[in-house]
Amino acid sequence: MKSICVLPGDGIGPEVIDSAVKVLEKATDQLEFVHADIGGAAYAKHRSYLPDETFDLMKTCDSCLFGAVTSPDGPDQGSPVLRFRKELDLYANVRPVRTLVEVPNRPSIDLVLIRENSEGMYTQDEVFDDGGVTTRRRVTRRASERIVRFAIEYAKLNGRQKITCVHKSNVLRASDGLFLSVFREAMNSKGAGLKSEEQLVDSAAMKLVVEPRVFDVIVTLNLYGDILSDVAAGVAGGLGFAPSGNIGPKHSVFEPAHGSAPDIAGKGVANPTAAILAGAMMLKHLGLTRPASNVEKAVADVYSTGHLTVDIGGRHGSRSFTDHVIGVLEGGKRQ
Ligand code: ATP
Repeated sequence: MKSICVLPGDGIGPEVIDSAVKVLEKATDQLEFVHADIGGAAYAKHRSYLPDETFDLMKTCDSCLFGAVTSPDGPDQGSPVLRFRKELDLYANVRPVRTLVEVPNRPSIDLVLIRENSEGMYTQDEVFDDGGVTTRRRVTRRASERIVRFAIEYAKLNGRQKITCVHKSNVLRASDGLFLSVFREAMNSKGAGLKSEEQLVDSAAMKLVVEPRVFDVIVTLNLYGDILSDVAAGVAGGLGFAPSGNIGPKHSVFEPAHGSAPDIAGKGVANPTAAILAGAMMLKHLGLTRPASNVEKAVADVYSTGHLTVDIGGRHGSRSFTDHVIGVLEGGKRQ
């Protein structure tokens, strides 16, 4: 049995995580779920967006399934997401994006974006003075080596052919230059069998929109990965299609790449696909590969038989889409 800490969070988090848990329960009897508070609900009860009880559970469970939190207001409240990524040493953020259903005027896409998750322009390291604010952006050899090595191993394990390093070293010569030189060294020493490419972040953004099939695995710095994964999700149909895994040496947290989407919360129209596929990523990470691929196939089946979610012009809300996925899984055997 594997223990899963379930963190629904705010906005559409509880809706899409409820869908994911229902699907996972149908796919396997090898998981036990423990629920914990994070975000606004946690603050209301414990005056903390990430209470100690929750954080302890995240550390002791085999993995975590997280919805989303609405970013806390106020200078004294750091992001609970940045805190758990840092304190659990979740240095790799893995975001697969794949076309599941043809969207008019958008090319098909099938790539995995691997984002450095521990430093760069995403650590809220901001210093105020009379004239303005300075944001510090640190790039280290150690973190760059770790993420590039992770990307190489991931590509080999998952049958991917090519890794593209996305950077801006023509302007950020020292910092992005370090990331790029680490990439070149690692591909030379460990990347045998993989094709190596380099791309400036601005042109990578354009290519993602017009010609996304040139990408296979992308490895990039923190903020570029954050932005480009939303671009890629948009090409595949929207934010409801992109799952995400935060992975470290000991711990892991899987989540939809989207946020709490307060504009559609409680309306029953959130697309649960990203959360369900995040659940499948978690199964795979825990070694439950058969149920993981059953879930992925069931989701693909539902789309291919014309059951579309509201965000891409269909009529299915979270619940009815989830029922269809479960229906397909019921046709197969529980693992
Ligand atoms: P946050 O600050 O928590 O990131 P946000 O609203 O700025 O919240 P997202 O939550 O990522 O950012 O949502 C951006 C838009 O994408 C939302 O307005 C919402 O309409 C849409 N969206 C996000 N996730 C989904 C989903 N699962 N299904 C349908 N639409 C979604």
